[in-house]
Amino acid sequence: MVFEGLAEKLQDTFKRLKGKGKLTEKDVTEAMREVRLALLEADVNFKVVKEFVNKVKERSIGSEVLESLTPAQQVIKIVNDELTDLMGKAQSKINFSSKPPTIIMLVGLQGAGKTTTTGKLAGMLKKQGKRPLLIAGDVYRPAAIKQLQVVGEKVGVPVFTMGDKQSPVDIAKAGIDHGINHGNDVVLIDTAGRLHIDEDLMGELQDIRSTVKPHEILLVVDSMTGQDAVNVAEHFNEKLGIDGVILTKLDGDTRGGAALSVRAVTNKPIKFAGLGEKLDDLEPFHPDRMASRILGMGDMLSLIEKAQENFDAKKAKELENKIKNQQFTFDDFLDQLQQVQQMGSIGQLLEMIPGMGGKQLKNLDVDEKELVYVKAIIQSMTKDERQNPSIINGSRRKRIAIGSGTSVQQVNKLLKQFDQTRKMMKQFTDMGKSAKKGGKFK
Ligand code: GDP
Repeated sequence: MVFEGLAEKLQDTFKRLKGKGKLTEKDVTEAMREVRLALLEADVNFKVVKEFVNKVKERSIGSEVLESLTPAQQVIKIVNDELTDLMGKAQSKINFSSKPPTIIMLVGLQGAGKTTTTGKLAGMLKKQGKRPLLIAGDVYRPAAIKQLQVVGEKVGVPVFTMGDKQSPVDIAKAGIDHGINHGNDVVLIDTAGRLHIDEDLMGELQDIRSTVKPHEILLVVDSMTGQDAVNVAEHFNEKLGIDGVILTKLDGDTRGGAALSVRAVTNKPIKFAGLGEKLDDLEPFHPDRMASRILGMGDMLSLIEKAQENFDAKKAKELENKIKNQQFTFDDFLDQLQQVQQMGSIGQLLEMIPGMGGKQLKNLDVDEKELVYVKAIIQSMTKDERQNPSIINGSRRKRIAIGSGTSVQQVNKLLKQFDQTRKMMKQFTDMGKSAKKGGKFK
């Protein structure tokens, strides 16, 4: 989980603080020492840590805080505010040009996740109603062009390529012309990376920049490389001038040092975060929400947005009618399951719920395999069986178990659960009916 170690330590520190009731200056100093250590262990830049702790301490030992009725909560609020500030206060969006197409250039070292992220971003923009075009400008890494074509196809965004024999500057120019002629309002240029920063790379990127004059230069960095990521960002910013950072692999980054230092060191905002290998695992970076995730206060807003993205009002109405008329079948059940899964992994979703992040999550048995079996079982049923589960007798159960690679017990369990769900739904709708009849709740 993102920030796992840091979240755990800070939450422990604050739990102790809360247990104290009234706080003294000494208590705050002690807590700040722990905060300092936790941040350093999370690989946050040491200058950033020093400044952060000083600020929090200064604000916390004022009499307004210590003499308030809830001093510990006040300290936590201050930490929350300062963490948010550290990561850039408010969400920083892409600056779209008033004269399309908006030209976005993605840069970064090899392996940072640049090509994948370029595809993810194009997919996200398309969902928002834009008409993006991808330009394959990485002519050095073998298979980079093919990779971009594959992700482009997956997210349904066209890819402009001229092979690997032309110069990236010519490809970028021709790609933009192509975009203009085809009505694309955003073009995203995937550029070449190198294993390390070198002058050739910077020279080439500077050439592209001065020729195509991008509206946004976004640097893709791997958050798992910690302070190296911050150094890379500093260097790219000095040589090229970047408008923002996309942090990838935050899903595997238990420390979070890059996320917490990049903004303070470079003064450039983190605009997006990559949270997995799937093409919809890209999220706008919200400093305030990240801060509350770190402090275990959850991230209900992101959760709600995710739900809205995947919510289909028409389907919801259909479902409601089915439940009312007791026509809810295994097909609907499967449909629901798929909708939930589209929102992300169950683990990811749970992390966003207050109190679920950090430690508690580890003890929770989130068995995604279970869901895979449930799906397999339903898919092994015939159409009739899905519509009318009561016909599933012993021999059918055996057949379904074999077909889905599960056991008869697992099939029985699911049938029982489904039956209970239906009964529960019936109760709800009956309750609704009698309430209406009796006029009790009018
Ligand atoms: P490039 O050399 O910078 O273009 O890097 P790629 O786009 O080829 O990505 C390198 C690897 O990182 C691939 O295996 C990606 O699937 C993986 N990757 C990219 N972004 C993320 C992310 O946010 N989370 C995880 N877990 N993996 C990612």
